[in-house]
Amino acid sequence: MILKKLSKKQKPKKIVLAVGAHPDDIDIGCSGTISKIIQDGGEAFYLVLTDGSKGSEDSKISDKKLTKLRHAEQENAAKILGVKKVFFQDFVDGELENTPELRKQIVKIIRQVKPETVICFDPTLVYDENRRFINHPDHRVCGQATLDAIFPYARNVRSFPELLAEGLEPHVVEEVLLVNFGKHNFYVDISKTVDLKMKAISCHKSQFRDIEKFQERIKQMSAMLGKKSQPKAKYAEAFFRITLRQPS
Ligand SMILES: [Zn+2]
Repeated sequence: MILKKLSKKQKPKKIVLAVGAHPDDIDIGCSGTISKIIQDGGEAFYLVLTDGSKGSEDSKISDKKLTKLRHAEQENAAKILGVKKVFFQDFVDGELENTPELRKQIVKIIRQVKPETVICFDPTLVYDENRRFINHPDHRVCGQATLDAIFPYARNVRSFPELLAEGLEPHVVEEVLLVNFGKHNFYVDISKTVDLKMKAISCHKSQFRDIEKFQERIKQMSAMLGKKSQPKAKYAEAFFRITLRQPS
């Protein structure tokens, strides 16, 4: 028994940090993978950068009320998945800029949580002609600021000395999974967690006119990615994966 306990203790848990611009981004983009990591014994954390205060067709609802509602929706979704904690930064929705302050806040969470894997948007996705959309500017800024935070700032002892003074030591992230709807080199089988993903998405009621239709679209997309993955899976999420060289 003692030996078993020791070996369990020695094996570090996989820790993943997912960074999104708005409440709902992470659940739509990668909650099947998040849920799989948790089910495999890992720990997951969410970092949501904006307050979500522009995410409504209703011009009457106050920013404060909408933010409160969206926080609650995100917290509920995270609870369903078993996410350990959601960090809200509450920068103004639609106005996210890659400033030293934004990078510092992301570095702070990276140094606090110490993730092996970070999941964020691919900042190179500006538009997709085939899928007929322009990527939200907050998504691009979120992706770029998160990559910048991972390298060099989170691992550089001389960056943000005020964080070091708070006891937040440099941290080296090992792997980045970029959410990009068209460019993939890494697939995660989410067949066992796709239902939880659908439940998590359904928490974001304020964001959809017809949530069932949206869920169906996401499920179809996951099935299509499952066909592309090797080995094939019923449902998959896909990423562009970067494994980072460790300091020598
Ligand atoms: Zn978004």
